[in-house]
Amino acid sequence: MELLQKKILKYGRVFDGNILKVDSFLNHQVDINLLTKVGEQFAKQFKAHGVTKILTIEASGIIVAAFTAQKLNVPMLFAKKTQSKNLSSSVYTTHVMSYTHGKVYDIFVEKEYLNANDTVLIVDDFLANGQALLGLIDIVKQSGAKLVGCGVAIEKGFQGGGDKLRSQGIRVESLACIDSMTDNTLVFRQ
Ligand code: 5GP
Repeated sequence: MELLQKKILKYGRVFDGNILKVDSFLNHQVDINLLTKVGEQFAKQFKAHGVTKILTIEASGIIVAAFTAQKLNVPMLFAKKTQSKNLSSSVYTTHVMSYTHGKVYDIFVEKEYLNANDTVLIVDDFLANGQALLGLIDIVKQSGAKLVGCGVAIEKGFQGGGDKLRSQGIRVESLACIDSMTDNTLVFRQ
């Protein structure tokens, strides 16, 4: 998606550990016009598949998932990272290795909101090694729901997570796939 690529080139900042900061339009301050177009694009790519629910992971996946859910007119469900008191004991849960924080954490989704009658599109902001998506895919498997694929705004192609998932037969669509990045150069996959 050209608009997203332009935003990344103009406002993205590369940090140690191959981290791309996009706080000015996606991860902190949010460019609503851009996110509207991101949602429209995922809705177009997956609308033929009878999606009943968008699944993401808190916190930064929520904004991308919400705009996609609005366009597909279905609920958005986000996996929580803490089992707070207001979650019931009836949850799907799995482990995720966080790329940005370098630690393993658990995620939780109430069984009440996801079941075998659902057709799920997973959405997230970034795809790096694929651990977050793998955790969400595991949750979908536990629920018995059907997975139609994954939509991510920014894929860091050089970290290989997307290609690993695709090689397992999972449909993964990214709107901007970065093949390489340094402090002053950033190359997108064509
Ligand atoms: P993965 O699990 O695919 O290795 O990493 C994906 C998750 O880590 C995303 O949910 C995202 O929040 C975070 N992440 C990975 N790489 C980056 C990055 O370069 N920049 C930002 N802002 N988040 C990232």
